[in-house]
Amino acid sequence: MSAVIQLAGRMGKIKPSPTLAVNAKAKALKASGADVLNFSVGEPDFATPAHVCAAGKAAIDEGFTRYTAVPGIPELREAVCARLAQDKGWQYKPEQIQVSCGGKHGLYNMAQAMFGPGDEVIIPAPYWVSYPPIIELAGAKPIFLPLSEKNNFDITEADLAGCVSEKTRGIILNSPSNPTGAIFSANALGLVAELALANGWVVISDDIYDTIVYEGGKLPHILDVAPELKEQVIILNGVSKSFAMTGWRIGYSAGPKHIIAAMNKIQSQSTSNASSISQKAALAALVGPQDFPGEMKKAFAKRLQFILAEINKIPELTCVTPKGAFYVFPNFSNYFGRAYKGRKIKNSVDMSAYLLDEALIASVPGAAFGADNFVRFSFATSMEVIAAGMQRLQKALSRIA
Ligand SMILES: *Cc1c(COP(=O)(O)O)cnc(C)c1O
Repeated sequence: MSAVIQLAGRMGKIKPSPTLAVNAKAKALKASGADVLNFSVGEPDFATPAHVCAAGKAAIDEGFTRYTAVPGIPELREAVCARLAQDKGWQYKPEQIQVSCGGKHGLYNMAQAMFGPGDEVIIPAPYWVSYPPIIELAGAKPIFLPLSEKNNFDITEADLAGCVSEKTRGIILNSPSNPTGAIFSANALGLVAELALANGWVVISDDIYDTIVYEGGKLPHILDVAPELKEQVIILNGVSKSFAMTGWRIGYSAGPKHIIAAMNKIQSQSTSNASSISQKAALAALVGPQDFPGEMKKAFAKRLQFILAEINKIPELTCVTPKGAFYVFPNFSNYFGRAYKGRKIKNSVDMSAYLLDEALIASVPGAAFGADNFVRFSFATSMEVIAAGMQRLQKALSRIA
């Protein structure tokens, strides 16, 4: 009889995503013909712009199908620098840019290059599902900084202070946020900058939703609040959300030269370069017309207004108005402990499962984001789906005793 092969020790630390149960069920229901309305998707429902697709096709036709430089083709890194300069007023050189296989991979390279056993990294919660496992896979420890609904999910001085220890090496910021849609205030970013400067932290700013902002005025950013922090900041971004290019897998990081060089070492021993074809497409996105992100945002803004109004019709729900991204994150805790047909709803996982079974709407339980009172609904879907889904939501919730 053959042996049961042991897995690596690190596998004991990585928990399976609590979203999987609902997702698997939603897929199975849909496959069996059920009319499931999907609010669980974390990607734009728009097609990649035609000129970007054309650049990808041209890359294939021209035989641009071999390895590229590990950090990305020079013209793409230059294009990233030009965008950062033009859109943000930040000066970076191509050797301070890494192109990776999606924004998530940039984050992974960063964590492998920066953190290890004994290090603590502050993660504001609710957080994006991938932050804790990526920090843990580097051997470091995530320290969760609680953000409160009452404070519009902004960082407070006392809560931040409560996370700091001698082991703190850095903090991950995501603004606008997945899942809350919140934006950190300049004041909160100032508090982070002060501690980062005093203690030599690295600040990772995940700016992936920076083109999807519903408020007027400039998006507050730690590099603008504290330009003197620049040598301690790593910017993570990509074209996945801004140009509806999730499947192309192109992200980019900008930061101090020695950190990007370290990230390039990690990338050179894992994925080498991002796809040559996708790099050409991303180049077209960054140097071509810049109206696409704005048009997509206009569509998202209309949907946001609608979905929020529908959610606010339900008195038991509270929902902070998102300022960016394409998610609403209502608080369902008024329903916890209550039941429908003897089925008790104890937490966000139960609530998502109930909504899927009773209303055929797929959502993501807040537990996945470290916030069990909430459920995330993506509005990166059509107005028709949103309208029908919200009716089903209202009906399903009204049945809970
Ligand atoms: C989508 C997303 C990313 C990047 O995704 P990729 O598909 O890997 O480019 C990064 N951070 C957050 C918070 C996201 O939601």
